[in-house]
Amino acid sequence: MKAIIFLAPPSAGKGTFAEYLKIKYNFESISTGNILRERALKDENLANLMKTGALISDEIILNIMKDKLATMKNDFILDGVPRTLNQAKILTNMLNELNIKFKVVYVNVDKDVLLNRVLGRATCPKCNRTYNLNIDAFKPLEDNICDDCKVSLVRREDDNEISFLKRLDEYNKNGEEVIKYYKSINNFNIIDNNSIDNTIAKNNLEEILNAD
Ligand code: AMP
Repeated sequence: MKAIIFLAPPSAGKGTFAEYLKIKYNFESISTGNILRERALKDENLANLMKTGALISDEIILNIMKDKLATMKNDFILDGVPRTLNQAKILTNMLNELNIKFKVVYVNVDKDVLLNRVLGRATCPKCNRTYNLNIDAFKPLEDNICDDCKVSLVRREDDNEISFLKRLDEYNKNGEEVIKYYKSINNFNIIDNNSIDNTIAKNNLEEILNAD
């Protein structure tokens, strides 16, 4: 079994890549953000914290990872984790213990492109497919309705400019040492996803995936 760890700022396109790898290679996905959003439906404190864009404690995240990793049957991507150096180091140990090989992929996107994507992002509450209401190529066929499930799309509460800037700040603050760590263990790859047409980014991702 193998895993891809995506290191990417908010709205860099992880969800789109996850969908692509799912369809083409049957990859599963572990998104700590999705797991926490589900928990937050029954936990007001968690919901309020997430709304601000603050990070959730490493202890909670690592417990989620321990439980989830034990259930994986197919290759998978890690979406949104690790976000701190401590998470990264412990995650390496967990993956090694389970004999899961992993590759790290950093998705590079400029700040103004990210903000535009965040402000237009809408998701299907049923299948989690992501659309973008600001970008023609990613709009649903019918206004605000999922093409596949035919249900109304929802917007994330933290997809506003203030939360985005806080999330980006958190990401940059911790990201540097996480990147340094993966470089130090020779496991670091970069793809650029600034363009609306992400064909090149997908090809680059596949090259990384298929390299020895
Ligand atoms: P995401 O969907 O990945 O953008 O995550 C949404 C929110 O969930 C983040 O802004 C954090 O509050 C929380 N979160 C998700 N993953 C992590 C993580 N690995 N460490 C800490 N907080 C996280």
